[in-house]
Amino acid sequence: MIVVFNENATPVQIQKVTEKLLDKGFDLHRSTGTSQVVFGVVGDTLAVDTRDFEVLEGVHEVIRISEPYKLASRSFKKEDTIVKVGKATFGGKKVGMIAGPCSIESRDQIKKIAKMIKKTGTKVLRGGAYKPRTSPYAFQGMGEEGLKYLREAGDMNDMAVVSEVMDRMDIIPALKYVDMIQVGARNMQNFALLKELGKINIPILLKRGMSATLQELLMAAEYIMAGGNHQIILCERGIRTFENYTRNTLDISAVPVLQKLTHLPVITDPSHGVGIRDKVAPMARASIAAGADGLILEVHYDPEKAFSDGAQTLYVNQYEQLVKELKIIASAVNRTL
Ligand code: PEP
Ligand code: MN
Repeated sequence: MIVVFNENATPVQIQKVTEKLLDKGFDLHRSTGTSQVVFGVVGDTLAVDTRDFEVLEGVHEVIRISEPYKLASRSFKKEDTIVKVGKATFGGKKVGMIAGPCSIESRDQIKKIAKMIKKTGTKVLRGGAYKPRTSPYAFQGMGEEGLKYLREAGDMNDMAVVSEVMDRMDIIPALKYVDMIQVGARNMQNFALLKELGKINIPILLKRGMSATLQELLMAAEYIMAGGNHQIILCERGIRTFENYTRNTLDISAVPVLQKLTHLPVITDPSHGVGIRDKVAPMARASIAAGADGLILEVHYDPEKAFSDGAQTLYVNQYEQLVKELKIIASAVNRTL
């Protein structure tokens, strides 16, 4: 961390800042030869709120040079983390694919979709059992019964399964059924939930909040990692912008930006990212071209009748065609699918 003083900072003001920094156990290196006094602050600055120093008299600016997250950062771990979910991997040379309906609607529905998706080589099945719906009157999901059907569908087709948990009370029950837990966009900063997920030992699919910066997403990952669980897949799922033609704006630049900042795998969710069926495949192709480590996509045999998110859900034949195209794009960027 660097503290830059005003040009006219007085010795008394500088002394006060010095004492506050030394009190906190930091080492100070004072630069000389410029018109302004500058301190290089060395020590564990992770927990420091830079504003605590910025408000002190005589201080011009406080600049953080190390990131506020540690375990998630590329400087802490240079090599890419590979997260295994059943037979799929995320973060290695192989691109990981996750597909399935937005919601689990019945035993038959999820089994039928799993069987169809399996044929494309997809190894992870998605399906929501606890749905975060804007309206309390909209379908809220089948709960634990749905998770049971998801597990059965996964087992019958040799696929791993992922589902969202919204409440920390639902984590332990969900562990009986799922191979990975999803944290949805609306819960990215549910710190109580994140802390509990740090205590378990299965992968977490952590979605970016719709108004979250990439640093906030990485801080959310840090919460889980600080608890001891390092198996995290980050997911860009679209953010709120001024544009309202699409449901969200899929920030594909998040992929290379995050991959530079963190060793964790980064996937995208083009379904929620754009929210309109015919825009999903182009954004999926663009994501793989941009270097995404995987994709999560909503797929249904009859999207028109889906209980949730039908308008952004691919027909099975569209998904099959997309997978064929993605294989070509993946090989062009030195990946396999
Ligand atoms: C979902 O995956 O169906 C979902 C609700 O995702 P998000 O949290 O990204 O909106
Ligand atoms: Mn959905």
